[in-house]
Amino acid sequence: MGFAEKFVASLQSSNLRDDAFHHDLDAIAAAALAGDLGSLLCRVKYADGTINKLFEGNSGNLTQLLRIWTARVIQKGRERKWVEEGAAWDAHAAQALYRRVAERSLAYWLDGKCTNCSGTGISSSRQICAPCKGIGRAEINGGGFERERTLDMVSDLEGLLQAHHGRAAGRLGQF
Ligand SMILES: [Zn+2]
Repeated sequence: MGFAEKFVASLQSSNLRDDAFHHDLDAIAAAALAGDLGSLLCRVKYADGTINKLFEGNSGNLTQLLRIWTARVIQKGRERKWVEEGAAWDAHAAQALYRRVAERSLAYWLDGKCTNCSGTGISSSRQICAPCKGIGRAEINGGGFERERTLDMVSDLEGLLQAHHGRAAGRLGQF
């Protein structure tokens, strides 16, 4: 079932306790979120110019983006069972982890350049930049597990942007 059909089906569903209905609502929320997020990502990354640090520069879009993105990372983290959320302490730690991963992945995706060489890979003394080993990309902080989850989320962000570009291209193709 496509998105439009699901949307219509959910509107027609009269039983609020129906699991299928809730499933449809989830699908709609996810699709709506993905749609908004894609265009927001595009606006923040390209329209707002260079962003050296997260939370600086044009922060309106960025704040909104971080809020939506954090909600999405929490959802993904739970779906993928990054951590067991058994005890209250676990749930608290899990929330902190989701937030760190959300903030770091967004910051890295927006501007992941090595600060030592500004992404050139060459140091001021014309040597290969030591901190990034000439790659020009910044390191992602955090332990191995957290770092991997952050990288996963960075590629999810990239995927969302590509999907947004794909949809925009599709709409253009109709004219
Ligand atoms: Zn460097």
